[in-house]
Amino acid sequence: MLRQIKSLTGIDLADRNFVQPAFRKAVSITLLALLGAEILTFVYYQYIAKSTWDYVLVNLLLTGIITVVVAFPIAVYLSVQRLKLNSLSVQLARMASVDQMSGLLNRTSFIQAMRDRISHPTNPEGRGAFLYIDADHFKQLNDEFGHAAGDEAIEFIGKVINQNMRRSDLAGRLGGEEFGVYLEGGNQKLAEDVSENIRQDVTLLTFDNKKKRFTLTVSIGVATHEAGEKPSHFMKTADKNLYIAKSRGRNCVAA
Ligand code: GH3
Ligand code: MG
Ligand code: MG
Repeated sequence: MLRQIKSLTGIDLADRNFVQPAFRKAVSITLLALLGAEILTFVYYQYIAKSTWDYVLVNLLLTGIITVVVAFPIAVYLSVQRLKLNSLSVQLARMASVDQMSGLLNRTSFIQAMRDRISHPTNPEGRGAFLYIDADHFKQLNDEFGHAAGDEAIEFIGKVINQNMRRSDLAGRLGGEEFGVYLEGGNQKLAEDVSENIRQDVTLLTFDNKKKRFTLTVSIGVATHEAGEKPSHFMKTADKNLYIAKSRGRNCVAA
């Protein structure tokens, strides 16, 4: 029966997320339609057709039944479709801002989110810290273990970053094998501690083939910023420190 209703109307009555709120909305719409129809029927039969009171009552009853029978299923259908549309647009907005492979924000959304945090800071000083994270020897990983291994590494780094951040922090994939983390209100010490935890956790992923073992590592450049500073400014500082971390032999943090 439920399957038949679904194939006829597209409404899945087992999906309580949609059906219960849609049902409540449909009841209000039907009651409104009922009220309108009853008022019009009453005015017509009482004042225009000047019918007897019995005739008015019969027509009020008939109008009520017809309105409920016709309006209610249509109202349920339209309400479910509207709720589905709302939920789809939320999903779409989420998909457009998230990088699917790492599960972190994409570059544009991440930088925009940092800008928003800096212009409306929740900490009194308006300061923060930024970590520029770049996977080491990623080209070599792709060349020796295949592109799928590289993709797995990006997914893993996304998970490690996610596990090491607070709810108030932001993280994004800046492109390729580069990631950014923004620690709202974070100082140098916090930034270095979080970086070190990320660096260590990333090394838990290894790839083996007949010839060699590849341990995934990242290099991290850190920068802190003052109130109102532009992301482009402190990202440049972090990028310089990342370069220093690479030149020190990789798998390290430079602040
Ligand atoms: P370094 O230690 O100096 O950072 O060297 P690297 O090899 O990591 O840096 P390089 O810029 O030479 O190479 C980055 C590589 O990352 C090249 C590119 O093919 C690979 N890459 C970028 N995005 C992806 C991706 O989504 N999946 C995979 N598998 N590889 C990617
Ligand atoms: Mg790079
Ligand atoms: Mg790299």
